[in-house]
Amino acid sequence: MPTTSVTVPRTLSDALRVLADSPDATVLAGGTDLMVELNSGHRGATDVVVVNRIGELCTWQHNPQLGTLHLGAGITYSEIEQSPIAGWVPALAQAARTVGSPQIRHAATIGGNLGTCSPAGDGLPVLCALEAQIHLASAAGERTLPFADFMVGPKRTARVPGELITGVTVPVLPGWQGYSKVGVRNAMVIAVASSALVVDQEQQGVRLALGSVGPVILRCPEAEALVAAEGDFQSSRIRSTVVAQFAELARRAARPIDDHRSTAEYRRHAVGILAARQLRRAFPNE
Ligand SMILES: Cc1cc2nc3c(=O)[nH]c(=O)nc-3n(C[C@H](O)[C@H](O)[C@H](O)COP(=O)(O)OP(=O)(O)OC[C@H]3O[C@@H](n4cnc5c(N)ncnc54)[C@H](O)[C@@H]3O)c2cc1C
Repeated sequence: MPTTSVTVPRTLSDALRVLADSPDATVLAGGTDLMVELNSGHRGATDVVVVNRIGELCTWQHNPQLGTLHLGAGITYSEIEQSPIAGWVPALAQAARTVGSPQIRHAATIGGNLGTCSPAGDGLPVLCALEAQIHLASAAGERTLPFADFMVGPKRTARVPGELITGVTVPVLPGWQGYSKVGVRNAMVIAVASSALVVDQEQQGVRLALGSVGPVILRCPEAEALVAAEGDFQSSRIRSTVVAQFAELARRAARPIDDHRSTAEYRRHAVGILAARQLRRAFPNE
């Protein structure tokens, strides 16, 4: 379907004005999801608003006092996989390194991953485990949603017409964190199961989020409670029996489906292995 107009605003307020006049316009960032959908005919665009020239969306701020990192929606995976961002959110950097190819990572943005909101999106389990805050803006004002309220279904978000995702704020935590995924090959692959584990040393707890094994990214409260009760956060010790229980609770939390990439059974099995390996890395001592 042909586009009717393409606008390239340079400021956030200009972009919000354009979206207020044309709330159903399609937002284009790196285009690595959108252009595939347009080219394959799965999506028709009307007006297009290009957001990757907007300076406000392409910056990050580290706040050591608050212990937070704000990433503008236009920050690309190639920026996230490198220092200094990689040092503050290593799990997000690990996820970034698994996205597509270097060419894709130069164009693809964190805002675009959130905009698509696929359960297989590699950034999303990490944002879920970090309990990220998602910032949205429209001509009517701004709002911030926790990740769990932002992703409401497979490829469905709480974003309303006329709104832009402006960025995401995550805590900078001192404990171990990691992201792993399983796919049908080693690179350029969509996850058939993925897992993000974050240790919150201060709260003496962990947060586990699973991708590609449910309609949304899934947290695993029972597995998390087990580690809070049984893990020794001072000496990074955990018993092997607890690791095995943790894997089982992760498998039980999964709600996978059969599709062309994998069976539900394999997904459930794989996600337990990923979660157990991560817990062992976070607590290397018996
Ligand atoms: C070859 C290839 C390999 C890939 N491999 C992976 C992979 O391994 N892992 C992975 O997770 N993804 C992968 N992807 C998908 C894609 O690269 C990511 O989802 C990426 O983060 C999308 O970002 P983008 O900036 O390109 O988004 P775009 O394609 O520009 O937009 C994606 C969606 O988000 C919306 N959007 C974008 N920015 C905003 C905003 N600021 N506010 C509101 N809505 C917005 C758009 O309207 C659109 O609906 C791959 C894609 C390709 C083509």
